[in-house]
Amino acid sequence: MGKALIIGAGGVAGVVAHKCCQNPEVFEEICIASRTKSKCDTLKEVCENKYGVGVGKTKITTAQVNADYVDELVALIEKVKPDIVMNIALPYQDLTIMEACLKTKTNYMDTANYEPPETAHFEYSWQWAYKKRFEEAGITALLGSGFDPGVTGVFSAYAAKHYFDEIEFIDILDCNGGNHGYPFATNFNPEINIREVSAKGSYWENGHWVETEPMEIKRVYNFDGVGEKDMYLLHHEEIESLALNIKGIKRIRFFMTFGQSYLTHLQCLTNVGMTSIEPIDFEGHQIIPLQFLKAVLPDPASLGPRTVGKTNIGCIFQGKKDGKDIAYYVYNICDHQECYREVGSQAISYTTGVPAMIGAMMLLTGKWNKKGVYNIEEFDPDPFMEALNQFGLPWIENFHPQLVK
Ligand code: NDP
Repeated sequence: MGKALIIGAGGVAGVVAHKCCQNPEVFEEICIASRTKSKCDTLKEVCENKYGVGVGKTKITTAQVNADYVDELVALIEKVKPDIVMNIALPYQDLTIMEACLKTKTNYMDTANYEPPETAHFEYSWQWAYKKRFEEAGITALLGSGFDPGVTGVFSAYAAKHYFDEIEFIDILDCNGGNHGYPFATNFNPEINIREVSAKGSYWENGHWVETEPMEIKRVYNFDGVGEKDMYLLHHEEIESLALNIKGIKRIRFFMTFGQSYLTHLQCLTNVGMTSIEPIDFEGHQIIPLQFLKAVLPDPASLGPRTVGKTNIGCIFQGKKDGKDIAYYVYNICDHQECYREVGSQAISYTTGVPAMIGAMMLLTGKWNKKGVYNIEEFDPDPFMEALNQFGLPWIENFHPQLVK
């Protein structure tokens, strides 16, 4: 049916490549490209060994590209001629890849919103600013097609479509009950992860943001499949788009679980300045402490074989149906070791990579075909929900959930 250019060859891109190969009718061909071509070649080899080559299989090619440069991207897109560019690199590359897609009139998707490298701050405004140009070019940009953002937006659209007249409250709960055995490691790109969790928290209430200190708001929740965990309120990017797209919403909060060891290490690293993104002089070189820290921490892609336990990510909705108050909780439970057996990675990359493949599939199959720049909850959730069940992220519904106070 189509051809995808995957930019990135890290933890998430690995899962995306596997999932495309499991779906060869839609992904007839993929090209995997990043700055280090050898990583892409390794991924190609792993997938070809697992899924085979030839008629009826996804054809895989690889390329070298630095996605910080629009010209390099344009040259690659013109050579590969993909139907969609899947941005599975880092949030820093969102705008250059969108520019290149505009120049070549190619559909775009990503899993995380743009963040300028020099400020630990992310928001959609930079990408939403492309809306008119994408409309005029007759192409689609699908923003935030991972799990959160991603599936959480699809869950919201699904709840609004099928169960509620009005959603008043959304609590997004992201629980990782996995244990990798290290005192401190991050489950996805350490730099992006630490920038996210060391920032101030915030939530949306009655039409405006309420800001909190980092990790100021803590709750305890009993997660199906995992058990009781401490969770903390964080700022998270889907709050910004859901606040606009879910009409009548009064409050949206995002909570993520963290163990005490993770928090103690993070506090200590922050106290000594290791999480700073301000450049410092070190032996005649300018280095950024957080980037140095990333270099000494375990590579998230290496956590797969050692991580045991489950994730549970989902949304609790409260609101009205036929004048009555109702609550609805929809979530996925994902097992780290099962993911590892299937695609050689832990559940955090898996729960991001599967929805990334499905988002691209929605555009390639024409099930989603609005032209312009859209967040995921602006599309029909039904075919996406069906594909989640089909491709390894089945969801569970609970109409009498424990609520978060
Ligand atoms: P990794 O660090 O494992 O991989 C990033 C990849 O991007 C690497 O293969 C790197 O390869 C490539 N890359 C980085 N810079 C460039 C560049 N300038 N040009 C080309 N390629 C580049 O990250 P993850 O796989 O863990 O995360 C990928 C994305 O997924 C991130 O944006 C992350 O924020 C997002 N994410 C989203 C989640 C969600 O639920 N929505 C959850 C988890 C992650 P090389 O060095 O060879 O260039």
